[in-house]
Amino acid sequence: MRLPPLADLHRHLDGSLREAALRCFELSLAVLQAPAAVRRVADPSVLEALVGVARTCPTVVGIDLAGGPSPAHRHRLRDYSRPFSLARDLGLGRTVHAGEGRPLSEIREAVELLHAQRIGHGTTLLDDPAVLDLVREGGVTIEACLTSNLQTGAVDDLAAHPLPRLLDAGVPVTVCTDNTLFSDVDAPGEYRRAAALPGTGATAVEALAAFGHAAAFSRRG
Ligand SMILES: [Zn+2]
Repeated sequence: MRLPPLADLHRHLDGSLREAALRCFELSLAVLQAPAAVRRVADPSVLEALVGVARTCPTVVGIDLAGGPSPAHRHRLRDYSRPFSLARDLGLGRTVHAGEGRPLSEIREAVELLHAQRIGHGTTLLDDPAVLDLVREGGVTIEACLTSNLQTGAVDDLAAHPLPRLLDAGVPVTVCTDNTLFSDVDAPGEYRRAAALPGTGATAVEALAAFGHAAAFSRRG
C-alpha cells in the first residue's frame, strides 16, 4: 500500500531510543529510584516552572502530561490546570494522556480543565456520548497508538480497537507509534495496521495522516 506523508505526533523519547543509546535511559532510571526524587520531578509546580521557561524558548511548541495519575498518586489531573492554563495563554499546544483503558472522566478533565487539544490514547472515549460530543465539538484529536494499546491491555484485541468507530463518529483521529523501541514498531507499520482494521481501509489512511498534520503544534502568540 502506498502511504501518504505520515504524521506521528505521539512518540516518547525514552521509549523510542535506538537500542545502541539505551544507556541514556538507564541513566534517567538510575536517578529516579527514590520517592523523594520522583516527587521532585512530578509535582505540578515543576511543570509550571518549565512552562514558564518555555516562554523564552520559541522552539518549544507544546506540553504533554503522560501517565495519568492513579488513585494512589498524590496529584490528580485537575492539579495540573495551572501549568496547562499558562501554556494556553503562551500559545503552547496541549496534549494529555487520558482514557488509556481508564475512566473517561480523565478525558473530560483533560479537555475542560487542562484545555487539551489532543488526547493520548482515549481508548474509552466511546463509552459516554456526552464526552464523545465534547471531544468532537471541540475538534480534539485522538492520538491512537494501536500496538501500544494492545501491549498495555488498553484493548483486548486490535480488531476491537475503537479507531474505526471514532472515525465514523466524526472524531479527528491520527495514528502514533508511542514507543518505537519498546513496542518494536514504526509509523508506516502502524498506519498499515490501522488500514487493516475492520471498518477502515487504505482510504482511511489519508484521513488519519491528514488529521495528524492538522493537529501538529506550532508556536503562536
Ligand atoms: Zn504515550
